[in-house]
Amino acid sequence: MAENNESKRDGGFNFPPVGNGRPIRTPRINGYWMYLILAAVIIGFQFLGERAMPVRTTWQEVREKMMSKGDVEEVKVITNRGQAQVFLRGDRVEKYSELLAKGFKSTTGGPHFYFMTGPMDVFAEEFKEAKEALPETEVALDYDTEYDGWGSIFSYLFPILLIVFIWVFFFRRMSRGMGGGPGGIFNVGKSQAKLFEKGTNISVTFKDVAGLAEAKQEVEEIVSFLKCPDKYTKLGGKIPKGALLVGPPGTGKTLMAKAMAGEANVPFFSMSGSDFVEMFVGVGASRVRDLFKQAKEKAPCIIFIDEIDAIGRARGRNPNMNSNDERENTLNQLLTEMDGFATNSGVIILAATNRADILDSALMRAGRFDRQIYVDLPELKDREEIFKVHLKPLSVGADVDVPFLAKQTPGFSGADIANVANEAALIAARKDKSVVEKQDFLDAIDRIVGGLENRSKVIKVGEKKAIAYHEAGHATVSWLLEHAHPLLKVTIVPRGKALGAAWYLPQERQITTKEQLLDQMCSVLGGRAAEELTFGQISTGAQNDLEKATKQAYAMVTVFGMSEKIGNLSYYDSTGQSDFSLTKPYSERTAELIDEEVKNLVETAYARAKAILEEHREQHAQVAELLLEREVIFSDDLERILGKRPWTEDEEESMNHEKEDAHVQ
Ligand code: ATP
Repeated sequence: MAENNESKRDGGFNFPPVGNGRPIRTPRINGYWMYLILAAVIIGFQFLGERAMPVRTTWQEVREKMMSKGDVEEVKVITNRGQAQVFLRGDRVEKYSELLAKGFKSTTGGPHFYFMTGPMDVFAEEFKEAKEALPETEVALDYDTEYDGWGSIFSYLFPILLIVFIWVFFFRRMSRGMGGGPGGIFNVGKSQAKLFEKGTNISVTFKDVAGLAEAKQEVEEIVSFLKCPDKYTKLGGKIPKGALLVGPPGTGKTLMAKAMAGEANVPFFSMSGSDFVEMFVGVGASRVRDLFKQAKEKAPCIIFIDEIDAIGRARGRNPNMNSNDERENTLNQLLTEMDGFATNSGVIILAATNRADILDSALMRAGRFDRQIYVDLPELKDREEIFKVHLKPLSVGADVDVPFLAKQTPGFSGADIANVANEAALIAARKDKSVVEKQDFLDAIDRIVGGLENRSKVIKVGEKKAIAYHEAGHATVSWLLEHAHPLLKVTIVPRGKALGAAWYLPQERQITTKEQLLDQMCSVLGGRAAEELTFGQISTGAQNDLEKATKQAYAMVTVFGMSEKIGNLSYYDSTGQSDFSLTKPYSERTAELIDEEVKNLVETAYARAKAILEEHREQHAQVAELLLEREVIFSDDLERILGKRPWTEDEEESMNHEKEDAHVQ
């Protein structure tokens, strides 16, 4: 990749100048230095001035000891201070050298002494009398006002300077805090996008994005649109204006954009949706304008807006609610820029969100975001790839089997997998191991799924027994149901908020049948059923299970149309446009029917769970006792007690077999 040593300042982001591979540091001179210098000069003048200070004395002393001896040349009354300054005759200064401050020499002009006059008219009267008493001596009386030079100017200016200083300081801070960047408050309307110029060294490449083959292909195609547009336009086609990466959190959308910036070889502007939002009205729209202006200057180029839902949320339908005006203005500007009157050929907009459902439909229409690239949670094969990427920097033990780890992590996103790898390395380091072993990965997965193990929690013997029978209930019921998720292990070691748990390995299904949902519900209710059957009493321990079962039952009835009485109706609104939260889309009678059906579903599942446990009462007790003894039991133990599950799927079978050929080195 070609090196580009040009230092640029675009949109508040600049790359440091590079010399001999090291950034050159030039001393920075800014406004603060000016203030410092000014203050130093003022203070310097104040203290380093050559003037000696007059010595304080009294009117009486002056009159009786100085004037009477003819030593005083002049008395100057400083009216604004209520003081009078005494100037001695040049040849008499020496006489008072004891009293005078050092620095007064015979040549020094004075004033040599000063005194407080008291009321001006009284003083004038007294001076007149004193002068009349000494007719042979000449003493001049003068009136003046005086400000003590720099000191008084400084004392006047200081508060003003201080206010200006604070004002500038806070404004700079504020505008920088708001992303104003260099240039302060006046740049607030400028786009905050980071610009990655052609040739900028970005370490992320498409190789770092594991799996997501289709999404990667789409993104790569966008890059090729920019590089050789003729190939696509010569047949009359138009180059897409934008692509939207949609998917759950942590699935690699931002990572993909980073890789694109690294590989596109065209200028890449990157910013987040929230960067447009500001406390000033009109700033968002102005930033959008500025972003597109900059981009058009650098076309062909790519603009990436992460978390676009911050500005792209559907515009309100109620025109009286003005609270979102600013956001709507920003969105309107974005819509205009993306497909407005002005052409912006050569600028492709890539955006990412995990809330495509709430985006404004005008934003999503063809001609703006022509393409939607769905980045889903990774499947088994993709998870393997992601694990490989994240295991590369680790020292991994020979027993670590990537396909096995991928199987243990259904439903995990790329970010979760990155977290597993990191957590496993930390766990291994804590145990002073030289390599990260399989068990460390399993512990990391457990920790991420269930939270931190909390063995020090004090649990009474009776409670422990109840927990064991509860968990054994889940395990037994699910073991004996065809469609329940395969069980991994059962534990009564408290973890996170849970006191015990049955761990399943959810099957990766694209669609789920009613039977599967019912079996799942039944195994969820197995815990409470076990408590009732064994102890004849029920506890609060089943709250989480009941919540799950209830939600699932409601979804079955109102979303999936799985109830006979309600029929094939779905009251779910995937567009998010309806006001279902305020008004129900069904009548009161249907509402009652829904409640009834939900109750029916849950009760039937509960009765089924109880029947299963009653039938296998002995085995259930055995599972619970083993659990009490060992705290953690695995599917092999259940197989010994309850027999092999006849419905074990192929995939599940292979789950516990380690593949020798897929070790990560
Ligand atoms: P969000 O929507 O919450 O912003 P996202 O989809 O943008 O999430 P990323 O920030 O791209 O998620 O991913 C987070 C981290 O997860 C990445 O830094 C990377 O370590 C890891 N990751 C996610 N997907 C992948 C993948 N396909 N390959 C490798 N690593 C991945």
